[in-house]
Amino acid sequence: MHKEYYRKDFYLEERKFGMRIGIGYDVHKLVEGRKLIVGGVEIEHETGLLGHSDADVLVHAIMDAMLGAASMGDIGLHFPDTNEKYKNANSLRLLAEVSEFVHDIGYSIGNIDATVIAQRPALRPYIQKMREKIAEAVGTDISRVNIKATTEERLGFTGREEGISAQAVCLLEDA
Ligand SMILES: [Zn+2]
Repeated sequence: MHKEYYRKDFYLEERKFGMRIGIGYDVHKLVEGRKLIVGGVEIEHETGLLGHSDADVLVHAIMDAMLGAASMGDIGLHFPDTNEKYKNANSLRLLAEVSEFVHDIGYSIGNIDATVIAQRPALRPYIQKMREKIAEAVGTDISRVNIKATTEERLGFTGREEGISAQAVCLLEDA
């Protein structure tokens, strides 16, 4: 954990506040020759997301929401893309690490809600599996994880299938 953002004494003190909320946003470009992994699920498609890690846009947005709720900075601070260790990294594993940070300072997941914005492929058939994988990675019940998928009606970069974006919120509660 990045030391500038890790002050256990402060967080333990803060616990009397009870609840904290965070927001996350991420975008990755779609390119040929990459696997498409969204929410920890590999999806059959002619293009995949480009990135240093597995480029799991949904999991990255959720990680940023959790880090945001805990005032712990962002994903780039803790898992820099200049570090070879994170090349092709399994983002679900990184999410599990973030979840450990958050539990370590006395919080549990209240709930996670997220939206993936992609013109293609249709993500609905994969959503239940994504919820399972994410709930497992953060050690919470699936009922606390909601994933939605939408398109932008062929507008903008997601509409032109140049990339996929994701947005997430996470509520942390006193453990
Ligand atoms: Zn990302």
